[in-house]
Amino acid sequence: MKKTIIFLLMIIISAGLSVANARVRVTTTTTDLASLVEIIGGDLVDVTSLSRPLQDAHYLDATPGMVVRISRSDMFVENGFELEMGWIPEVLRETRNRRVRRGGVGHVDASSGIQAIQVPERIHRDMGDVHPSGNPHYTLEPVTSQQAARNIANGLIRVDGDNAEIYRRNLEQYIEDSNRIVSKWQEKFEPWKGAGIIIYHKHFDYMLLKLGLNIVDAIEPLPGLAPSAGHVAGLISGYNPETVRFVMMEPWHDQRVGKQVANGIGVPLVVGCPTVGSCDGADCILSLFETNAQKLFDALTK
Ligand SMILES: [Zn+2]
Repeated sequence: MKKTIIFLLMIIISAGLSVANARVRVTTTTTDLASLVEIIGGDLVDVTSLSRPLQDAHYLDATPGMVVRISRSDMFVENGFELEMGWIPEVLRETRNRRVRRGGVGHVDASSGIQAIQVPERIHRDMGDVHPSGNPHYTLEPVTSQQAARNIANGLIRVDGDNAEIYRRNLEQYIEDSNRIVSKWQEKFEPWKGAGIIIYHKHFDYMLLKLGLNIVDAIEPLPGLAPSAGHVAGLISGYNPETVRFVMMEPWHDQRVGKQVANGIGVPLVVGCPTVGSCDGADCILSLFETNAQKLFDALTK
């Protein structure tokens, strides 16, 4: 009897292991990309993100743990547009897994084929501009992210061609869902088309533009450059509640400055959810968008 139980347990464990082994192991740089991989890969993938939800992916440090994680992966997805320029090149250099390096079959640059907004005419890298290739935060807007989802689907098909049909079907479903959700919110924002907004970092811009809002200024003079007292004072004296309806910022920047600008102008401050997993309810790329859109809607209607 005991032997039978042990034998049965072994079968169960080995069956479980074979299922686990059959999954495609994917590592992404951000939780937003991990969400897209889950949407396209479903139960066929096992995905982990190198950054946590409340970490700003502009400023991570390369660690040996990241190298190990990527080395053990079948596929690696990076955001691109130089979002991870401070840490991913080093991690990829250190990994022995050629398949996930740039040019390898398991490497995905999710930005491939996306038209970046706000591509600077002159690059101010020496002044700390962290958006030299244009705005890299396209994952905040699900329709722009359809191309990233397509790149991820193509990557999964390359490393796991047997399940190509499932990946294609999930991609189609994502395109349908994201079109529906974004259209719904565009309709809701119709009465506020062109409403002015000041942002802190250019993090939510893809979403704000899709909703028809008008980004009139930024608390950071350049992406990544902290504001001077003079710049903050200029924003407060330069705008009023007619020209700016609210200020929006990320939780990882100095909220005292955001409050100072919002209070100075006399408008609400909206602290957005910057990534999947950073707020209750923002547990996938679509609910991240909906959570942020709802926060803006509440600020405009109260
Ligand atoms: Zn940025």
